[in-house]
Amino acid sequence: MSIVLLMTPNTYRARPFAQAAKKLGLEVVWGVDVPTELAATSPVPLPLDFRRPDEAARTIVELAARKPVQAVLALDDAASTLAAQAGAALGLPHNDPAAAVAARDKYVMRRALQAGGVRCPRFESFPLEADPAEIAAQVPYPCVLKPLLLNGSRGVIRANTAQEFAAAWARVRAVVRQSVGDSILVEDYLPGGEVAVEGLLTTDGLQVLAIFDKPDPLVGPYFEETIYVTPSRLPPEAQAAIARATAEAARALGLRMGPIHAELRVNDDGPWIIEIAGRSIGGLCSATLRFGPSATSLEDLILRQAAGMTIESFEREHAGRGVMMIPIPAKGLLRGVEGLAEAESVAGIESVEITARMYYPVTPLPEGESYLGFIFAHGDDPARVEAALREAHGKLRFEIEPEIRLEVRGGL
Ligand code: ADP
Repeated sequence: MSIVLLMTPNTYRARPFAQAAKKLGLEVVWGVDVPTELAATSPVPLPLDFRRPDEAARTIVELAARKPVQAVLALDDAASTLAAQAGAALGLPHNDPAAAVAARDKYVMRRALQAGGVRCPRFESFPLEADPAEIAAQVPYPCVLKPLLLNGSRGVIRANTAQEFAAAWARVRAVVRQSVGDSILVEDYLPGGEVAVEGLLTTDGLQVLAIFDKPDPLVGPYFEETIYVTPSRLPPEAQAAIARATAEAARALGLRMGPIHAELRVNDDGPWIIEIAGRSIGGLCSATLRFGPSATSLEDLILRQAAGMTIESFEREHAGRGVMMIPIPAKGLLRGVEGLAEAESVAGIESVEITARMYYPVTPLPEGESYLGFIFAHGDDPARVEAALREAHGKLRFEIEPEIRLEVRGGL
């Protein structure tokens, strides 16, 4: 029996899943996103075009006829619908494909949350070709504009006035045109602090694996994810309300099994769902999570559930852990990183991983889609974990050479 793991070529998530599968003795078939036109020449054993989920699901079914498949799992958002479709076609435990779509498409998600009675900001979706001046005159302020199908805050911009709306619209539209989708979602800006919830949906309901505080204020105009620290410092009642809201949101979307990652805003009215995705935490951030007496990884729990193996414990270790996703401060060419040794020697810092490639272009939010790297910290006290991350970040210096723009006057 094997497990099909669906991944995009540039995912950060393959390595921890491969390590966990090896430890558990599970055979993995990697289904990698490769455009159909390149499939014939691709060295990948199971090339799948994630843009064509019907075809890709058929390819997985054909594979399963030759080699029994126990589960199909998506490592990132891009293949969650395909995983659900393939699971359904193979008669395996799976999320309803419609739920997978709702967990990926921000407009479908808002509609499902609203229909399920989950509290939502006011929202509306507009086609890319719409006249921004007309929309700017009718939307409430402050509002947030966002693409429907991207993640990592890419293309998410706050606008406080009609003038800001026009500028934000042009930028979001350019991001959508360069990536995927044909609409822009506009919703009320929700004030408040923000948390992320990592969970696993089981037959017993939602197991909350961790609540991360995001101590940097996320007030816009762009919403760069930086520091995540767990355990949360919010009072137990607030954490219980966050867990309830997340479970309600999963139910409203129809998600039944597997990992979920949710972002919530918490203000005087309680928690509000920003989004809930049918996948585990992104980047290298899962390295902050360990469970039970054997310090099991998040990927281990997810694979055990998919393979029908017993899970020793859903309880996270007691220590505080944190990660900082190192933001890209400017657009240009990454020329150098200094201060790594000093950053790693800060008390409480476990490691600093620079993931951006040297001499390659880097782009900050809202257009960018990556980080310079990750800083990991641990300690007894979440406040100290946060302070260690900030101190270590302060010791890093990134040399980013501004892009040289060549202007050709009068044509070539
Ligand atoms: P993505 O999937 O790209 O991360 P989200 O919808 O989660 O997009 O938005 C990214 C971030 O933008 C959120 O984590 C939050 O900080 C901010 N944000 C998004 N929508 C709102 C909103 N309606 N009100 C306030 N902040 C928001």
